[in-house]
Amino acid sequence: MIEVVGQNEVLELFSKLAIKDKIPNSLLFTGLRGVGKFSSAIWLSCLVNCENSDLNSRPCGRCPHCRKISQLNSVDIHVVEPDQTTLNLKIDQIRELVSESTSAPYELKKRIFIVKNAERMTDEAGNSILKILEEPPKYLLFILTASDSSSVLPTIYSRCSEIKFRDIPKDIIFDWLLKNKMAEEDDAKLISSISFGSIGTAEEYAKDPKKLEKRISFLDILTNIEKYSSFEISAKTSNLCTCIADFFVINTVISLWLRDLMAVSACREFEDIVNIDFADQIRKQAMSIPITSLFAISELLKETVKKTFFNVNPSFLSDNLFRGISLILSNN
Ligand SMILES: [Zn+2]
Repeated sequence: MIEVVGQNEVLELFSKLAIKDKIPNSLLFTGLRGVGKFSSAIWLSCLVNCENSDLNSRPCGRCPHCRKISQLNSVDIHVVEPDQTTLNLKIDQIRELVSESTSAPYELKKRIFIVKNAERMTDEAGNSILKILEEPPKYLLFILTASDSSSVLPTIYSRCSEIKFRDIPKDIIFDWLLKNKMAEEDDAKLISSISFGSIGTAEEYAKDPKKLEKRISFLDILTNIEKYSSFEISAKTSNLCTCIADFFVINTVISLWLRDLMAVSACREFEDIVNIDFADQIRKQAMSIPITSLFAISELLKETVKKTFFNVNPSFLSDNLFRGISLILSNN
């Protein structure tokens, strides 16, 4: 059975709804990347299809239906996720899903459609799914996932019941890393802090030391950015972003650096710093940057992320972002 960590409230809600036979057919799961939206979607798919679920309103995890769903090994379960090159959900992918949704289940009780990162749906793709989301037949279950409700097309949002996922507390991530022998205590402390509520991010950091090294390279540049010329910044960052996935790693590192600077600027309290290994540098840097500049960087970050919808070269975006931050800080 698939493991869901730190989202007991959500699972309990599903159980309560299942007892009353009131699970909506179009759902939107919102929450940070890596908080367990997909694993919860699989859990719910098992629940509505389990052959023994009447025992305690939880899926048994052992019946053929539960097993097939957990292994994503059924003709009745469809997972659609963004194209790996552009990270967009394209019209063709959604059209295919809509066409699949016209038939009843072959072997399960309900056919399941999971659309990951629904915020990456182009307008055209979003429009093509509206009709089926509005009134899906009883034998279908649509689960869309997204980082937050405001990033999803409003027409999609209004047709789905939203289930909010909380950020997973640091101590749960820390215990999970130790229990699964994924990190030693010191590393687990750092990883659980910089994952900022996301068990998926924690897992990636624990499994891929290169990702931790990249983060350090980015933070070395960010915490010293005022010292570099625009040319030096381009030289330092040119090899760090080779694909769109790298760009989103950069985006996360910059967001958390910015979050720490804002926390220090606003409260002058330092215990709350996420990047605990860069706490001294961030504290010092926060003293010299006005809050208006931090807001300007936040806007720059949002605008740059929007450009990822239009297939702009990721390395160009990353370069512009770092140089844009440098420009904002030099105009203090
Ligand atoms: Zn079962």
